[in-house]
Amino acid sequence: MPELPEVETIRRGLAPLLSGHRLIHVDAKREDLRVSLPVNFAARLEGRRVRTLRRRAKYLLVDLDGSETLIVHLGMSGRFTVHRRGVTAMPGRFALRMTSIGSGSGKHDHIVFETDEGTRIVFTDHRRFGLMLLANTGELDRHPLFAGLGPEPLDQSFTAATLNSLLEDKRAPIKAALLDQRVVAGLGNIYVCESLFRARISPKRRAASVTGVRATKLVRAIKAVLKAALAAGGSSLRDYVHTDGELGNFQHHFNVYDREGKACSRKGCTGTIRRIVQGGRSTFYCPVCQG
Ligand code: ZN
Repeated sequence: MPELPEVETIRRGLAPLLSGHRLIHVDAKREDLRVSLPVNFAARLEGRRVRTLRRRAKYLLVDLDGSETLIVHLGMSGRFTVHRRGVTAMPGRFALRMTSIGSGSGKHDHIVFETDEGTRIVFTDHRRFGLMLLANTGELDRHPLFAGLGPEPLDQSFTAATLNSLLEDKRAPIKAALLDQRVVAGLGNIYVCESLFRARISPKRRAASVTGVRATKLVRAIKAVLKAALAAGGSSLRDYVHTDGELGNFQHHFNVYDREGKACSRKGCTGTIRRIVQGGRSTFYCPVCQG
């Protein structure tokens, strides 16, 4: 399931293809994903110019002229593929070399966007947990999806002091608290496990007791883990796009996630990675250095 770094990587990959461009043709091949698409979805998008592509938590926000924003969530299996006529080299880090036009007709290709440059962006989602909605741009902060969200972990405003105030009344274990999108937005199971390992904090520790130096270390760890994942996502995105024009396949190196029974990777630590279940989700940690 895509987490913040994956969604941000996809945003960076799509932004140069969409920003400033007009959606000439939109083909919605069905009326629903996880929930119904907005009424007249394709017609409401066709002819609109994309102003910017933003991200909030795990949502992509496509701001359109006319003060509307297309909200996209990839769900469990949603992904975008990009198809262009011929081979086009684009400037910038996310240089794209695309395959020929023609895709978008697969069984799970649900929505096809075509821009004024002839770029075709196909949304494929075989499990259909994805989401696309339209909302007034000026009212997004009050939208039910975003109203209660915590701060963005990569924002400068996300500090130890911020985290302290968000956790001070939380009796839950820190692992569960960090998964709560009202505490911090966009973190999922993988990066919470990795951040706690990096900060050497037990996932079972009571959230409210993560203060002082621990809070400082945890905030630093969260930012570092996300930035490393972004760097990794960026590189694999480049490779992947160069291969077959697809965005959304990421390879990360994890220290604890999905490493049950393996030796702890921290130098000098003799611990073995353990898996426990907290709030119905697997937690991976080293009981020795996260004691
Ligand atoms: Zn260890």
